Amino acid sequence: MFNEEIVASFKSKETPFYYYDLGLLKKTLTACKIASDAFNFHVHYALKANFNERVLSLIQSNGFGADCVSGGEVKRAVESGFDKKQIVFAGVGKSDTEINDALDQNIFAFNVESVQELEVINELAEVKGKMASVAVRINPNVDAHTHHYITTGLDENKFGINSWDLPMVSETLKRCKNLEFLGIHFHVGSQITDMNVFKSLCVKVNEMQHWFEERGMPVKILNVGGGLGVDYHHPDEEAIVDFESYFQIFADFLIVKPYQEVHFELGRALVAQCSSLISKVLYVKHGIKKNFVILDAGMTELMRPALYQAYHQIDNISKLKVESLKSKNEGIETFNSSPSTLNYDVVGPICESSDCFGKEVQLPETKRGDLIALRTAGAYGEVMASAYNLRPAIRHAYSE
Ligand SMILES: *Cc1c(COP(=O)(O)O)cnc(C)c1O
Repeated sequence: MFNEEIVASFKSKETPFYYYDLGLLKKTLTACKIASDAFNFHVHYALKANFNERVLSLIQSNGFGADCVSGGEVKRAVESGFDKKQIVFAGVGKSDTEINDALDQNIFAFNVESVQELEVINELAEVKGKMASVAVRINPNVDAHTHHYITTGLDENKFGINSWDLPMVSETLKRCKNLEFLGIHFHVGSQITDMNVFKSLCVKVNEMQHWFEERGMPVKILNVGGGLGVDYHHPDEEAIVDFESYFQIFADFLIVKPYQEVHFELGRALVAQCSSLISKVLYVKHGIKKNFVILDAGMTELMRPALYQAYHQIDNISKLKVESLKSKNEGIETFNSSPSTLNYDVVGPICESSDCFGKEVQLPETKRGDLIALRTAGAYGEVMASAYNLRPAIRHAYSE
């Protein structure tokens, strides 16, 4: 992602900013598209991971659909040129305004998260004299084995409809004249790296589609959500996710009938690796037990470490030469114990102790003015930025 030329081009830019490697994004999208097309699977991009204009435009032009979790995202997806027939809308708390706007747009499907929501969408569609296409989001009680803040598919989570409510769901769907039942939807969590989770999900999806079809309700859409994880520890070696293996699991374990379509909602796996947050070192403090590198970027630009103790690789890109030298000499003992690396706690300027990007991070000796890259920041990075402490708006840099 980085070479001397790119780092040199950063010198004149005001920090912090998000740097996007659009070339890498393009390669990632192509890899995903080829892998999904091989099975005739449909992929919707989850806008909430990143709704940067240039990122969205690339994703849209590569033929992906859009997965939205708010009225604002539905609006943005339409404005960005996504095909309305490829827009789905999930979320536990859709407001009446959001539902009405989505009905006006004739989106592909509402992914409905409660029986009460089914009733409300039916009423609002009736007023408009329209049919609302709905998929039912079922909570499959599958443990995603990921951080508890990004687990969504357990009985205790707020998302989706629990299996014991399904009889009420089918009764409601049969009674509501302005609802068209399309199929079933699932999303069990994010940053899932254990592929067994997806196998367990397939087993549940098969059970659930059988349940509906037994009751005379054909399931046309099997939407298995997103959640595919990326390798935060190897942003360069594993820059593109193994989409083939991921889709192969669904091809192997899902029962798909000829009239059915399989839909996915990937966010993180498409955009995480294509961006880094670039920041400048303001100060270096040497304490008794600790050294601190104080950056001009903080949790206001990248909240994931503060929000869920997320790991981001931290590179001193002003010391790029030293770093590449080090990897060439890997295995030579004298170099490994090089006195030029030190352990630092890398922190931001925000007045919160959780404003810390990493503890005991090994870096080449770092000085005021060095550029630091917080890697794998393309997903749930700039979209979570806030103005806390009256911080300025996010800046950007791009390479093709
Ligand atoms: C967030 C979300 C996704 C995308 O999750 P990733 O982990 O980024 O792939 C997909 N579907 C729904 C309903 C979501 O809320």
